[in-house]
Amino acid sequence: MKMPIPDAGVIDRRLAIAEALRGIVPADNVIVDEDARRAYETDALTAYRTMPLVVVLPETVEQVAAVLKYCHANGIKVVPRGAGTSLSGGALPLADGVLLAMAKFNRVLDVDYPNRCARVQPGVTNLAITKAVEGDGFYYAPDPSSQIACTIGGNVAENSGGVHCLKYGLTTNNVLGVELVTIDGEIVRLGGKHLDSEAYDLLGLIVGSEGLLGVVTEVTVRLLPKPETARALLIGFPSSEAGGDCVAKTIAAGIIPGGMEMMDKPAIIAAEDFVHADYPMDCEALLIVELDGPEAEVDHLIDRVGDIAKACGATSMRQSSSDEERALFWAGRKAAFPAVGRLSPDYLCMDGTIPRNRLPEVLTRMTEMSNRYGLRVANVFHAGDGNLHPLIMYDANNPGELERAENFGADILKLCVEVGGVLTGEHGVGVEKRDLMPEMFTEEDLKQQQRVKCVFDPDALLNPGKVFPQLHRCAELGRMHIHKGQIPFPDLPRF
Ligand SMILES: Cc1cc2nc3c(=O)[nH]c(=O)nc-3n(C[C@H](O)[C@H](O)[C@H](O)COP(=O)(O)OP(=O)(O)OC[C@H]3O[C@@H](n4cnc5c(N)ncnc54)[C@H](O)[C@@H]3O)c2cc1C
Repeated sequence: MKMPIPDAGVIDRRLAIAEALRGIVPADNVIVDEDARRAYETDALTAYRTMPLVVVLPETVEQVAAVLKYCHANGIKVVPRGAGTSLSGGALPLADGVLLAMAKFNRVLDVDYPNRCARVQPGVTNLAITKAVEGDGFYYAPDPSSQIACTIGGNVAENSGGVHCLKYGLTTNNVLGVELVTIDGEIVRLGGKHLDSEAYDLLGLIVGSEGLLGVVTEVTVRLLPKPETARALLIGFPSSEAGGDCVAKTIAAGIIPGGMEMMDKPAIIAAEDFVHADYPMDCEALLIVELDGPEAEVDHLIDRVGDIAKACGATSMRQSSSDEERALFWAGRKAAFPAVGRLSPDYLCMDGTIPRNRLPEVLTRMTEMSNRYGLRVANVFHAGDGNLHPLIMYDANNPGELERAENFGADILKLCVEVGGVLTGEHGVGVEKRDLMPEMFTEEDLKQQQRVKCVFDPDALLNPGKVFPQLHRCAELGRMHIHKGQIPFPDLPRF
């Protein structure tokens, strides 16, 4: 994987840059020591590692603004970072870039029940938001499986999803406002406690912008009242096709479950070995369907989903009888990634999305690919959303195996696009899917997206090397003209 060539001149200035940053944030919040920097060298896409130039941990929005202003004035790249759980390499540091870690922004600022929202700092973990309000009967709906660790700032940057997003929407549907610092140090507020945006939907633009447009320093999130009842069904099927059929028929019947997740046999075995959720072992696919709402509605929906599942050939069905049992049903699914991590030294987690009705075909072709590449794959999916998470197992110690896993992953994502889906569901593009962007977008589409980037960050200092497969200087966008084989701006790193 190619990244922009680091600027040796900036690396040579490491100590001077650190000294300047110590003039902005408390001295202890600037990390130059090599051992301490190493803690930040990767995110959850551990196949790639780069030591950051310097790590800086600001504590106030004014400090963030001053750090960005300094970096802007001195042409220094900046990589924002939350908890570093990105699976697409979004928080991968740059050798010539300041890593701006938001860990000290860890306070819930204001809980406002009349407006059903909370103002939180970006370094607050996703789960901590729900923990802060659950005693009063509220929760924050998007629930990535990494919610114990990942931050709301990272969730905003990646437009993260989770089990409950089928019914309650992704991060973008649950964020009402942000405070953002632009690369030149301007502090702006987009949205707020009110419902409608005042002009263009810039908030919608920022959610999912992967740290390329600005640094989020505050988030206003929507709070929902906890449903009166929630119950889950654990349904075994003889094949993933039968499970997929049940998903499609349930949604077609007008039922939107609170969560609808599927695992294939390798994932079921791995999850069961890890959390002992008492999953059925005599099935090829397992569907977890959660129904929530008033008691009578849940009773009715459980029966309807049960009937649909039987008609689709379900081989077993169990209903949770307590909140503890429901949590146990989910525990295996939520721990599926670490569970697969016990089966193989390394794995790549893919994140394509397909139209629900293409699931059987995609699974069959993925099995063929798995045989062709000689690599095992376990499948976990947000079945209701058509968002697939194939986990490709490999051993980086075996020469060439990482590359084989990457090619396998690329083929899966290309297949997702081929069947009418998209490259990413919720993990972002980062570096992982960057070079596949042309599979989905034309050169003109990509230029158009980069023009938006140029409005916010004309010098491409914020998180460069991520999302866009080719660097363009903002001035050349749309004017790239190759004359006699000579490209303009030959000094610009292209990868
Ligand atoms: C075991 C496991 C399970 C996971 N399950 C899910 C899941 O179910 N659903 C899901 O959507 N994701 C999942 N993820 C992926 C990951 O947790 C999410 O993408 C999460 O939102 C990243 O948050 P973070 O705080 O770790 O951000 P980081 O990894 O630190 O950064 C992610 C991106 O956000 C940017 N960023 C971070 N903070 C800011 C900020 N304040 N301002 C601007 N940009 C910022 C970074 O530059 C980077 O591009 C999982 C990851 C793991 C390891």
